[in-house]
Amino acid sequence: MKVIKIGGGCLKDGQAANAIIKLIAKRGKGDIFVLSAFYGVTDILISGIEKALESEANIPLIINGLRTRHNHIIKILIQEERPKKQLSKSLRDVYRKLERYYYGINFTREATPRMQDMIATFGERISALILSKILLAKGLDASFVLPEELGIISDGKFMDATAVMDKTRQNLVAWMAANHGPQKILFVPGFYGVSEKGDITTYGRGGSDYSAAVVAAAAGASVLEIWKDTEGFMTADPDNISHCKLIPELTYEEAAELAYTGAGILHPRTVEPVRSANINIAIKNTYHPDARGSLITQNGITTPNIVKSVSYTVDVAVLKIYASGVGARYGILSQITESLARDGINIKSVVTSQTCISLLLSRKDIETGHKSIQKIKPSPYRKSVVIADVALVSIVGEGLHKNRGVAAKCFTAVSNANVNIEMISFGTSNAALYFLVKEKSLDRTIQALHSIFFDE
Ligand code: ASP
Ligand code: MG
Repeated sequence: MKVIKIGGGCLKDGQAANAIIKLIAKRGKGDIFVLSAFYGVTDILISGIEKALESEANIPLIINGLRTRHNHIIKILIQEERPKKQLSKSLRDVYRKLERYYYGINFTREATPRMQDMIATFGERISALILSKILLAKGLDASFVLPEELGIISDGKFMDATAVMDKTRQNLVAWMAANHGPQKILFVPGFYGVSEKGDITTYGRGGSDYSAAVVAAAAGASVLEIWKDTEGFMTADPDNISHCKLIPELTYEEAAELAYTGAGILHPRTVEPVRSANINIAIKNTYHPDARGSLITQNGITTPNIVKSVSYTVDVAVLKIYASGVGARYGILSQITESLARDGINIKSVVTSQTCISLLLSRKDIETGHKSIQKIKPSPYRKSVVIADVALVSIVGEGLHKNRGVAAKCFTAVSNANVNIEMISFGTSNAALYFLVKEKSLDRTIQALHSIFFDE
């Protein structure tokens, strides 16, 4: 049995969704499909929260907007009157429930994390319902089950939940034994789980990849397939390097590194659950379903030059904290990180020297992060500075740290391109080397690196 995740990008319009339906009908028997919301729907749901707080009059508009968007797609997928009516009826109930949550927010003048997470899951609830009903109408044995019914248990942390694997496994195995079979096609909304107290909690934006990995690991799937509208992992971002190539095979470690900095092929936490269950991940392009795609495995294959991809993110800024004797005083780092954690700020990475601690934060967090550490009294540091115009570049390949010459080759190429390196982190991961450059030098850096590792 496979677990297959279908991304929102494949559910952009009626035509795309139609291709998916055909693919599922042809190859999906006996498998479990974990769905994303239709393209753009989660954004509408989340922005609706503000609008609902603003005015009650906005609520029917939000619901109508969602209905129109989905109907646009449904119209192309299903023509027969009876199943169409049945689907409309089921959807009406879902919209009505969603509407009540928005009214709840408006009346209480408060959007609690619990409410926000509940509302955010409606895109997945709707897409899974629609696809299952359409396949059913086509005469296939398709059904739909919610994560809360399956018992996909989470730790209860709103907007950033983690699955509780042993309980989820128990529940899923029992459910499957009673309900699943080789002819059945099962649809499960992605993006969230339920805490033991019954709270609906999402895994964070883009989290349905992680959902699918949780289901795959819990159900003991033969493989986790991620169906997307792209080929797979590439040697660089095609927007920067048009002649970049597909990476046919990667290790879990490499995929995890690329998920953090790369072009959003996978949610960064997707690898966690399947890795311990030793289940491979196959990235498949739904437009070329027989193409090879990228395969992620325990051992992968190493290429002669070790490096498999050059990637970057500009969603990074540095908070530099100057204090003397950082390495000889205890407590500084913990005071700083505690303050940031209290203010809900995620630290992407830390680099320290004897005189300076550099924290890498997301750009959206940098101002709040800076304010947060300024509140610590008495101040444990001398001076703090924000550097925002940087980009984090990484070269990724398992065994980088063990192979002499890779780093030298990398930095020679960057230096020959006349780019100054602001900061380096090497050796902390077995599969990546990170460094910061000024954002204005980013293009040159990527070109130089891709050319030295892949064009020669
Ligand atoms: N629909 C959710 C989001 O847009 C989850 C996902 O698509 O993975 O964040
Ligand atoms: Mg998505």
